[in-house]
Amino acid sequence: MSAELATLGPDAGRPVLEALIAAIHGNAAHLSALDGATGDGDHGVNMNKGFTRAGQLLGPGDASLARALSLLGQTLLTEVGGAMGPLYGSFFLDMAAAAGNEPAISGDTFGRMLAAGLAAVLDVGEARAGDKTLLDALVPAETAYRASRGAGGSFSDALGAMADAAVTGAESTRDMIARVGRASRLGERSRGHVDAGATSCALILGALAASITTQLAASAEAPQAGPERAQ
Ligand code: ADP
Ligand code: MG
Repeated sequence: MSAELATLGPDAGRPVLEALIAAIHGNAAHLSALDGATGDGDHGVNMNKGFTRAGQLLGPGDASLARALSLLGQTLLTEVGGAMGPLYGSFFLDMAAAAGNEPAISGDTFGRMLAAGLAAVLDVGEARAGDKTLLDALVPAETAYRASRGAGGSFSDALGAMADAAVTGAESTRDMIARVGRASRLGERSRGHVDAGATSCALILGALAASITTQLAASAEAPQAGPERAQ
């Protein structure tokens, strides 16, 4: 096992939010093109608007992961239209709520955050895995995270498993028929296209995983005053 800290520091919010914004910004045109094949072509625009706005609202100074995700969720919920505002808004808000006031986020805490975010999307959207939505990335990602931790995986191991499962899950939507949302109007013709929301979800989880893993590794390399190390 590589040396890494067991927990994410209290200032993890800004780099994570910046990684999320960059991932969405860099893929906005791609996400809108995917949405254009089965929907109205606005997914990348919606996402980019909301994530960029959250970055502006964060302001200067350090932020906890809970604060950054809460701000992102609130911004998406209140300022972004389409299916994605309430869905991703609730996802990030409930993730933040599950983090509570813990200053340092452990792998177990992140697992609870991810499960809470998934529960929120299930609750708000009333869709299920297999309906050709972002849940087809999120459900397997949460399962993979939990399985990795259950098998003794480190925080970073589990994040890697989560990100990989999200990519595989997003790709699996290509063969699905959309049963909810705008794309469901196409019926059988929705088959053959990767779902835009599942793709943005894989990008989001990939950026979360990369940013957190980098922070865990960087803080493990820096001289430590006290916090305990993992493995
Ligand atoms: P809109 O469909 O209103 O234009 P977006 O284009 O921003 O909204 O988002 C579309 C994405 O939202 C879809 O690709 C799908 O992944 C996701 N989606 C739509 N309805 C639901 C739902 N009920 N539950 C989960 N995800 C959904
Ligand atoms: Mg759309």
